[in-house]
Amino acid sequence: MTSVQHSTQPQSVDIAIVGGAMAGATLALGLAKLSASLTRPLRIALIEAHVADSHHPGFDARSIAIAHGSIFELSRLGIWSQLKHLGTPIENIHVSDRGHFGMTELNAKPLGLDALGQVVELAKVGSVLFAELAKTSVQVYCPAKVTHLYTQQDGHLLSLDNGTQLHCQLLVAADGANSVVRQHLQQPTEQVDFEQTAIVANVTTDKPHQYWAYERFTQTGPLALLPMQSVVSVPTAQSRFSLVWALPPAQAEQLKQADKATFLAALQQAFGNRVGQFVDVGQRVSYPLTLSYMPRPIYHRCVFVGNAAQTLHPIAGQGFNLGLRDVVGLLNVIEKAYAATGSELDLGSSDIVHQYLASRQTDRDSTLRNIEFLVRGFSNQYWPLVAGRNLGLRLLSWLPPLKRPVAQTAMGWR
Ligand SMILES: Cc1cc2nc3c(=O)[nH]c(=O)nc-3n(C[C@H](O)[C@H](O)[C@H](O)COP(=O)(O)OP(=O)(O)OC[C@H]3O[C@@H](n4cnc5c(N)ncnc54)[C@H](O)[C@@H]3O)c2cc1C
Repeated sequence: MTSVQHSTQPQSVDIAIVGGAMAGATLALGLAKLSASLTRPLRIALIEAHVADSHHPGFDARSIAIAHGSIFELSRLGIWSQLKHLGTPIENIHVSDRGHFGMTELNAKPLGLDALGQVVELAKVGSVLFAELAKTSVQVYCPAKVTHLYTQQDGHLLSLDNGTQLHCQLLVAADGANSVVRQHLQQPTEQVDFEQTAIVANVTTDKPHQYWAYERFTQTGPLALLPMQSVVSVPTAQSRFSLVWALPPAQAEQLKQADKATFLAALQQAFGNRVGQFVDVGQRVSYPLTLSYMPRPIYHRCVFVGNAAQTLHPIAGQGFNLGLRDVVGLLNVIEKAYAATGSELDLGSSDIVHQYLASRQTDRDSTLRNIEFLVRGFSNQYWPLVAGRNLGLRLLSWLPPLKRPVAQTAMGWR
């Protein structure tokens, strides 16, 4: 990594990535790997506004579930070997509907797998990814913010808040839900406000989790528990889970402010006793839940990846999994273009940008449709819907072959 802080002359790069969280940092590492196989190495710049510490918006206190298919892709990119020690395997997933009979399980063993996915804490992942970037030739501008961009015939000129100017052939926006690049380029998004807020916290239970994850649909919204690695401060008979609990905004605010005992009692009431007793909760953070989606995540010499292209409800744990598929899609398009044309390639060409758009369309559309259906279907108390979803969950547990397509989606196999 070349850590560049200031320059007055515009510097020329092939690709500039704005945003160095999960999507941007994995893309930069993937490009660095690809670059090593080319006769002329790629000039890659990564611009990230925050250093990887506890206040980083992209590498915060959240834990996320990385699906089996994504682990495969991260391994192929040479990234998972560096993150593996941070992962907690999910061996089984239990899905239930509070107050109704529907419930089902997804299990790794019958599918011939060790795990359906892995849970990682983003704050720890951030430090590892930036340490990996330091071993590459990627020019990392951090902390630095893109404040202006000027679209030109042959690329984009970026102004950073430290005075640096960068000229790139291809601009990649990986700058999250409120993408500054998208705002500068005045690109439209479609928004759905679910009128829910997620409370995220680490909770401790009085029983070992034995690598089970849970998804429970309650009257107010879905609640997910992801198994986490044990820490010295938690006795071995107990276990840690990462909790994501979607609630109406007013109720979420109340529970965020409530004292520990009130919070734990409300959680126990909503989740039941399947994981034993909830005995502790850490810092509670809240996220408003909206779905935003760019119908066309491209522009002249520019592509959008990850949350900048679409921000999902965390109900199905698909946000980064889908964002990683954007990253892999772009890498595949660039790799194929190099294979076809040799080393002199215009990375911002209309062909590359449109091939990226075409390669992402079906996956993005179907993932978004499924998630909106899940959120709306499972947040509704209208009885035919309740009956339908309970029957659906029950049928899944009675007819194991039906589980395969569901498991395939959950695990990010495409
Ligand atoms: C509660 C919750 C639970 C979730 N659980 C899961 C899960 O289980 N599985 C899953 O796959 N996904 C999950 N997700 C989604 C997942 O966390 C996100 O999809 C993913 O982290 C988004 O990464 P990103 O890099 O696309 O965007 P972001 O994390 O938003 O990163 C954008 C980056 O751009 C930088 N930036 C912004 N503007 C500028 C600028 N002008 N100049 C320079 N840098 C800039 C920011 O500092 C930031 O680092 C969850 C999300 C939430 C909220």
